[in-house]
Amino acid sequence: MTLQLNDPDLLRQQAYVDGQWVDADSGATFPVIDPATGEAIAHVPRMGAAETRRAIEGAERARTAWAGLLAKERARLLRDLADAMLANADDLGTIMTAEQGKPFAEAKAEVAYAASFFEWFGEEAKRVYGETIPAPMPERRIVVLRQPIGVTVGITPWNFPSAMPTRKAAPALAVGCPMVLKPAEQTPLSALAVAVLAERVGIPAGVFSIVTGDAEDAPLIGGEMTSNPIVRKLSFTGSTEVGKLLMEQCSRTVKKVSLELGGNAPFLVFDDADLDDVIAAINVAKYRNAGQTCISANRVLVQDGIHDAFVERMVDLSRTVNVAPGFDPAATIGPLIDEPALAKVARHVEDARARGGEVLVGGGVHEQHGRTFFLPTVITGADMSWQMSNEETFGPVTAVHRFASEAEAVRTANDTPFGLAAYLFTRDHARIWRVGEALDYGMISINTGFISAAEAPFGGVKESGIGREGSHHGIEDFLEMKYLAWAGIRDAG
Ligand code: NAP
Repeated sequence: MTLQLNDPDLLRQQAYVDGQWVDADSGATFPVIDPATGEAIAHVPRMGAAETRRAIEGAERARTAWAGLLAKERARLLRDLADAMLANADDLGTIMTAEQGKPFAEAKAEVAYAASFFEWFGEEAKRVYGETIPAPMPERRIVVLRQPIGVTVGITPWNFPSAMPTRKAAPALAVGCPMVLKPAEQTPLSALAVAVLAERVGIPAGVFSIVTGDAEDAPLIGGEMTSNPIVRKLSFTGSTEVGKLLMEQCSRTVKKVSLELGGNAPFLVFDDADLDDVIAAINVAKYRNAGQTCISANRVLVQDGIHDAFVERMVDLSRTVNVAPGFDPAATIGPLIDEPALAKVARHVEDARARGGEVLVGGGVHEQHGRTFFLPTVITGADMSWQMSNEETFGPVTAVHRFASEAEAVRTANDTPFGLAAYLFTRDHARIWRVGEALDYGMISINTGFISAAEAPFGGVKESGIGREGSHHGIEDFLEMKYLAWAGIRDAG
């Protein structure tokens, strides 16, 4: 399959290590598959520990000069990179749709979101202020510096092939930390395209490297990243299972970790909610990226009085969703990432059926497109015994739970080890405060389906992660505090 790009040079089949476009030491490659067709669109290097080590050593060589630039000089470069991404949004969107499957318009929107991190963090890095603290003795001064942590590594998933890499690289680079990044096996091409643009705008060699590998290589690359003493911080987005493993590995050299892990988002609809707002929001929270986001509504909890009206509208909405390959201009959702992903969604639906759930629309594979295309599905009668209530479904399936009281809704919503995003729909402001405070989640979306923005602190509690990405809080994870204890500041006499 050949992609139609305005600038074919953006599609790279080599990794970017220490400023060089290179093959794996072994020469081995793996295919990147278009989830809509099952065809290979490119082949990229299968790298391991040795190539990762070279990228880390290159980052260490680049570190002092990069950190030594003025914040506004780094900001200028990051601004140029953001602009370059926007100028090439059609090509970056094409590459993303080809490797990830999401509709082209949605892919282009992700490119804009991904670019916004470089712009925002470049600006924010100018405001990495220190501190002076009143000292306990007259001749003392306490001064606090905030300095770049050093060489960083990032590991990202396939569901946001451009935004997950930039949400990590932007704050790192902005404050003066080089980053070595490993994108997911399924979607390395979007990250490599960002590296092409980083090189073009003049980000120095070693400051931003990309090592590629498939699922078999990931533990080797991750093993080097988490054991190499040069690396001072890991930023990981992916499953909770892998996050726990990497956190354990990082403990041996006491690296700082940020973890953006899985979710199990409750979507709470109270009787007094505005149903138009609810439906507009669930269209985003359920159907964006075919339901394959960490903040996808996973358990839809609806109060008795609005339950039937909600279900009717949800079924209507689901019938309007157009399932088609991402390059079809009429597509509103594309394929799931691969066949195992579809098998998991189908297993969840079968489990719901077996436990008495009523499938009102959808419930199976799309007849025409088959393989990775699942139909928008609505199932009623859900309870917490369902697989869908306990695991991320990662597909276009809505399981509707019914509840009577606010206390019951909060109890059910919190009945999970995860705590990433929750959604809350009500017009009662007192309830917004009560429920908002009672939900054990890092992000509460109130009467809207949109949460993500470069300006906002994205992240979870409990087993959904540690740390925040985006906002001025997101920059903190890439900084170390250094305290200068000054003595001998006596009277002039
Ligand atoms: P995953 O299986 O954990 O993979 C994520 C990344 O980790 C991939 O690059 C993968 O490489 C790599 N990896 C896997 N095993 C590794 C190991 N032993 N050592 C080092 N790296 C390893 O997750 P996924 O299926 O790609 O992504 C979906 C998950 O990400 C969901 O749980 C979703 O909720 C979560 N997510 C969270 C957020 C958030 O902000 N909280 C955002 C997006 C997604 P390979 O691809 O090469 O195997």
